[in-house]
Amino acid sequence: MKPIVAIVGRPNVGKSTLFNRLIGDKISIVADTPGVTRDRLYRECEWTGKEFMLVDTGGLEPRNSDFIMENIKKQAEVAMNEAHVIIFVVDGRAGITALDEEIATILRKKNKPIVLAVNKIDNYISQLEDTYEFYGLGFEKLVPVSAEHNTNLGDMLDAVVEDL
Ligand code: GDP
Ligand code: MG
Repeated sequence: MKPIVAIVGRPNVGKSTLFNRLIGDKISIVADTPGVTRDRLYRECEWTGKEFMLVDTGGLEPRNSDFIMENIKKQAEVAMNEAHVIIFVVDGRAGITALDEEIATILRKKNKPIVLAVNKIDNYISQLEDTYEFYGLGFEKLVPVSAEHNTNLGDMLDAVVEDL
């Protein structure tokens, strides 16, 4: 079984965009995994020769917003337990939200390597200051990215596979 890299974060931060981007063109799809029923969420990937399973935990989000918080806690728990490395995605334009804080608290409790991906940094120079506050979440590895514009994803993946 290959190591698991889970993408975690509150709704709408860009987890699925990131997932699709990563399996689409930055890293190659090696194969679909037999026996995995939720096959849209799991893909085998590789970066610089290191193979892993990439998981979009956001695919587990319920449509009913009443259950969002409960579900996020659940997906973060699942990710913590099965993942070797967690990509914690936040919205660099929105700033830190209460939900981000809640997820961070859950993620900090276990000693799993976390890469904090500050997404939606579409214009690195003008938005760089927006990223600083996210150091307040307490994670050492912070990478400003734009999933939509395919920016800095190589640096993010370098940080991920470093801990595999
Ligand atoms: P998820 O709920 O975390 O899976 O988020 P989605 O991937 O569905 O994205 C939510 C919204 O954010 C969509 O409208 C995306 O187009 C947008 N989005 C995702 N990544 C970026 C980005 O890097 N920059 C900008 N500006 N928007 C983004
Ligand atoms: Mg999603």
